[in-house]
Amino acid sequence: MVEVQPGLFVHQGKHLDIEEGYDGDICNIGFIIGKQSIAVIDTGGNLKIGQDLLSEIRRRSDLPIHYVINTHVHLDHIYGNAAFLEEGATYLGHENLPKAMQLRKAFYEKLNLDFMGIKSNESIQIPPSQTIKTNEEIIIDLGDRPLKIKAFPEAHTNTDITILDINSKTLWTGDLLFVERTPVIDGDIHGFIDVLSALEKENYNMVVPGHGTPSKNPEQAFAKIKAYLKKLRDEIRLAIDSGMGLDEATQTLVQDESTNWVLFNIQNARNINRVFPMMEWE
Ligand SMILES: [Zn+2]
Repeated sequence: MVEVQPGLFVHQGKHLDIEEGYDGDICNIGFIIGKQSIAVIDTGGNLKIGQDLLSEIRRRSDLPIHYVINTHVHLDHIYGNAAFLEEGATYLGHENLPKAMQLRKAFYEKLNLDFMGIKSNESIQIPPSQTIKTNEEIIIDLGDRPLKIKAFPEAHTNTDITILDINSKTLWTGDLLFVERTPVIDGDIHGFIDVLSALEKENYNMVVPGHGTPSKNPEQAFAKIKAYLKKLRDEIRLAIDSGMGLDEATQTLVQDESTNWVLFNIQNARNINRVFPMMEWE
């Protein structure tokens, strides 16, 4: 765990794909300690990671864990949730999160089994006990440490929320921001670009992305991911207009971004596979 701001701890996952070798530890997880309580933000891809996160918390503080917050539905962010059940925490997430978890349950159980050997009955989903409506902001207080949590319309997924540590002006973005690792679009590319346009106008001291190194230059970090997404959208639009097929598109589009990102070829092709068919109907 790295204390990137006083009382704000981040564990950075490795840049591994969800395939052979996936161990559940690929995204950023962590916690924020206030004067009276603690909030956990994302819990990792399996119960063991959640338990390790809990022991890292207990090495530093005995305060109660009042909140476990999931930034969105993806499996690498949510399958450690059950480690915090006995803490009596409120689980917080987007209003769409309970349904999204349910819809993906069988698929995620299969991935957890195939790559980590975790039996289905040990892949435990804990949905939020309190949800935040799209475009709504709520404030929770950890004791002289207010956090502003905001739920977004469909962007990276349809379950994205951000957490702002108001005192340190640090924004935990979930996967609305990727640093180093190729961005993933599992929602709506237009919505994703719109959200980034809104976020880059704000004035943060630091951003903690869903994947990659926390940045003290939020403007630059948002500009980089937005440039990739806009280029992807522009090139897909041109490809559709010129009659290019999906296969050729996945092989050829946005190649000049390839050296800017880790795991580029595989993820860029997946993004094109998702966005191209959606844009064909626009
Ligand atoms: Zn994600």
